[in-house]
Amino acid sequence: MSNHQINILLAGVGGQGILTLSRIISQVALQAGYVVTSAETHGMSQRDGAVTVHLRIGTHEVHPLINKADFLIALEPHEVLRNILYISKNTSVISEKKPLIPPSVYQNRRIEISTSCDGCSICVSDSGCPINQYLRDPTGIWIRLPAAGLVNGRLSLKEACTKCGLCQEICPNNAISIDTSDYLEDIVDSLGTISQKLYIIAAAELAQEIENPRAANIVMFGAFQKLQDKLNLPEKTCQDVITNLFPRTVESNLKAFQLGQDRVSLNSK
Ligand code: SF4
Ligand code: SF4
Repeated sequence: MSNHQINILLAGVGGQGILTLSRIISQVALQAGYVVTSAETHGMSQRDGAVTVHLRIGTHEVHPLINKADFLIALEPHEVLRNILYISKNTSVISEKKPLIPPSVYQNRRIEISTSCDGCSICVSDSGCPINQYLRDPTGIWIRLPAAGLVNGRLSLKEACTKCGLCQEICPNNAISIDTSDYLEDIVDSLGTISQKLYIIAAAELAQEIENPRAANIVMFGAFQKLQDKLNLPEKTCQDVITNLFPRTVESNLKAFQLGQDRVSLNSK
């Protein structure tokens, strides 16, 4: 056990597994013989509100709140900005790449329907646009105008469309294009200006690839384990804690952990 004290700020929004990530790191640190002090704020976590956990790991008990963080681990990139006061030039920032876009931002998206739309109607059917389903009563009568319909054999979007993007994902002809690139680039670029030690990890995407979308927090844990060197938290202890906490999904969670370890050096800025 080393004689160091490190401060870790975990940040995300409700439902992303921040508290589970905190539990994993705490258990690994305790098993390695450290004292762990923590404080959580998750007032709006049931409604996608911000969640933070202050974790302080060392050889003796300290005040639970962090002044400056040695590590900021953010499961959503905007949460890095929200917690900028905790960042110093020595802070290693590990951030998820993909932002969660709030509904108010959807409205600024540009949607284009290309000529490859053949009017198949999948996007406006009951397995398509959720707003259309919501605006029909159980007998199929429209309660308000639909969000989308077919006009002259092509998809036409109406005022009720929330620009959620679901139709883009299910269109078999790739006829719908929704532009979010400006928003995504802005946030990642701005992170580059506030930290010299920035590690952007596409954790949600990696978790999807291994068919365990809930494991994005484990990917981030793998990245953290690789970067932390002062505490020297053993890899084997990390794997044992993951195995004990997720007995039914051991394989995919260990894979997520390994992906985080592998990607952190590739994705550093
Ligand atoms: S946009 Fe795509 S899913 Fe919708 S009607 Fe056209 S081809 Fe079908
Ligand atoms: S963007 Fe969303 S709300 Fe608009 S038509 Fe497509 S699925 Fe419906």
